[in-house]
Amino acid sequence: MEHETRGRCPACSGTGWKAVEIEGIRSVVRCDCFQQARLDRLFLRANIPPRYESCSFESFHQVKGLSGAVKTVLMKFVEEYPLAGCGLLILGPPGVGKTHLAVSVLRDLVYKREVESLFYDFRDLLKKIQNSYNSVSQTSEMEILNPVLENQLLVLDDLGAERPTEWVRDTFAYILNSRYNRKLTTVITTNFDDRATEVRTLGDGTRLPVKETLEDRIGGRLRSRLDEMCKVIRVEGNDYRNMVIQAGYQSQNRSN
Ligand SMILES: [Zn+2]
Repeated sequence: MEHETRGRCPACSGTGWKAVEIEGIRSVVRCDCFQQARLDRLFLRANIPPRYESCSFESFHQVKGLSGAVKTVLMKFVEEYPLAGCGLLILGPPGVGKTHLAVSVLRDLVYKREVESLFYDFRDLLKKIQNSYNSVSQTSEMEILNPVLENQLLVLDDLGAERPTEWVRDTFAYILNSRYNRKLTTVITTNFDDRATEVRTLGDGTRLPVKETLEDRIGGRLRSRLDEMCKVIRVEGNDYRNMVIQAGYQSQNRSN
């Protein structure tokens, strides 16, 4: 199908228009391939890395089996979009398919809802911004940031992997708060757990988490902001069927 639209569509010979005859009057209408090509371009503009560009709920299901409950929640998310800017925070250890899920959501929002979308690996975004400070750089910081702040849907992949300097936190806060104020939808994946699951007790009785949490990485204020902006989905272990969905989203606009 995709190749047909790029090559020659048999219905319209690639012109994008097809002849119809209604009550004896002949005219031309847009061919279906025209809309398909438009959506393909929209998807392409999301800048998904080649490694993930074929990710979909169907391919996810083929790999591991997507549980009905998770599918229902994500389909509902697509259906209810934009739901006052509600996004997703997808948590879980590396290698369980969080990016795959995020791209699947993006794909459906593009093809079913025509949502203007943008994908960024968070570290790549930071690097791009930093490179823009370079005096020979052709692009300015705002040229990179504007689409990030303004796209209807933003997927930020692998939040927390970067070294959490003050600049990184400020940049993330700026992006998040801008999108929050504009009620835009943000989907975030992270390898960090939300709260400490293992705790070690020191000699004096002080209890310390063994592993860093997302809150440790981004700070308490931003973590709370994410709760206001996102439904939390936790992918546990290697089995997608064990995915747990938490009722983490407390919409500031619930009355709408
Ligand atoms: Zn056609």
